Amino acid sequence: MTETIHIGNSALQEIDELLRNRAFSKVVVLVDDNTLAHCYPRLKDYLPEHSLIQIPSGEEHKTLQTCELIWQRMTELNLDRWAVLVNLGGGVIGDMGGFCASVFKRGIYFVQVPTTLLAQVDASVGGKTGIDFHGLKNHIGVYQEPQAVFIDPTFLQTLPQRQVKSGYAEIIKHWLIADAEAFQTQRNIGLFTEDWEALIRHSVHIKSEVVTADPLEGGYRKVLNFGHTVGHAVETYLMQQPGRELLHGEAIAVGMFCEAYLSVKKELLSKEELDKIETFLVSVYEKVSIGEDDIEKIAQLALQDKKNTRSTINCTLLQSIGKAVYDQAITLQDIQESLRYYQLL
Ligand code: NAD
Repeated sequence: MTETIHIGNSALQEIDELLRNRAFSKVVVLVDDNTLAHCYPRLKDYLPEHSLIQIPSGEEHKTLQTCELIWQRMTELNLDRWAVLVNLGGGVIGDMGGFCASVFKRGIYFVQVPTTLLAQVDASVGGKTGIDFHGLKNHIGVYQEPQAVFIDPTFLQTLPQRQVKSGYAEIIKHWLIADAEAFQTQRNIGLFTEDWEALIRHSVHIKSEVVTADPLEGGYRKVLNFGHTVGHAVETYLMQQPGRELLHGEAIAVGMFCEAYLSVKKELLSKEELDKIETFLVSVYEKVSIGEDDIEKIAQLALQDKKNTRSTINCTLLQSIGKAVYDQAITLQDIQESLRYYQLL
């Protein structure tokens, strides 16, 4: 991985330095309603003369239609290939802004300034960009690394608690796939921490190591997909059910329950370790109601997952807490069984 990642309260000063030292032809900041109100006032003092592109907030706007709006504004602003787009927001802004920048005039520069916990520990790192398409999550996209990533944990001060918990799911995932000791320590502490910066640094470190080893997800990077086969299917399904939508991390938490269960079923993980995982997840996340009617449709959606080959559903499972194994073939029936197990918890 070649991207430079700055973490800490002085991260915004580093943006100032990058933008001063590099001769970008124009600087444009992409914001949504919330990051305009809460984050832009802090960032703007570190920016040279710049323009703004504002889009509505929320996953439902991570679409081709919103990309068109962004490309339209980029065209009106006469951006050339030496312009830079500063993506100020959560995973939606980062994924969609990164994608729009990557293909506009065959690619302009962009930097990520993640402002949600989820984007700080996960979405801003690793070069995946993209949008949802006809209800399918991240269906269109490219791998493209930003010029740099600037992570300032103080942005989290205005983030609603529900969003904090959503991001925390990806932190838990990083422990489950790569650091048993951190999982053990944190499960005694619970969700609350005085020191987000340390947790963010640790999580970014785990993700960066995996991505560096396998940038284009030929193999090992798939360990990061733990919780995401079932999780994405649940997220996609509930996204189409008004009033039942989940945040990304909330869906991944359901996915981690189900895939930890399947890890035991496939005789990889011990029942004792499953109990530890469940107890911790239950202490943080409320149960999501998934009925028998939903289960078959969710399992069908898992077939659309990008990780699959032909008709096999490939899933990342746990061998133990702290060690994941990828490309484990599972069936539609396995997914249904795991969702039924989740319902009984
Ligand atoms: P999000 O971008 O929708 O942000 C969540 C909400 O918080 C939005 O309403 C946003 O406006 C608001 N917000 C952002 N920063 C704020 C702040 N500091 N204070 C107050 N409000 C703030 O959602 P997210 O959870 O950050 O990201 C989810 C997206 O990330 C999904 O689309 C998912 O697919 C994607 N993702 C991508 C990767 C990747 O590797 N590229 C990894 C994980 C997730």
